Amino acid sequence: MEKMEKPLNPPEYTPHPQHPPPLGFVPPQPHVQTTTVVMEQAVHFGPKCQNVTCPQCRHQILTRTESKSTTRTHLYALLLCLFGCWPCVCIPYCVDSCMNTDHYCPNCNAFLGTYQS
Ligand SMILES: [Zn+2]
Repeated sequence: MEKMEKPLNPPEYTPHPQHPPPLGFVPPQPHVQTTTVVMEQAVHFGPKCQNVTCPQCRHQILTRTESKSTTRTHLYALLLCLFGCWPCVCIPYCVDSCMNTDHYCPNCNAFLGTYQS
């Protein structure tokens, strides 16, 4: 008995790679998604709480601040260590000017910005 299992595949279409596009052919431009992040206002945050309009919940709020130690904070602490001021090592962590201050919305907890000292 003959085996007729050879499938009859249609010849695969392969576009000619060397074929130049016709003159005046403009390749379709990919649609660029212009997702412009609308920054409502360029708020420059200070080290203290600020009265701003939250871009998330659109409420007039007083920002909740959180001090964050930065590389500089650790650097100051390290320097104090090196100079033997052991009792002073914690000072950079208590001084606001050595820390960044993050501002959050107390209403929706959205991160609003950072004050960099
Ligand atoms: Zn909010």
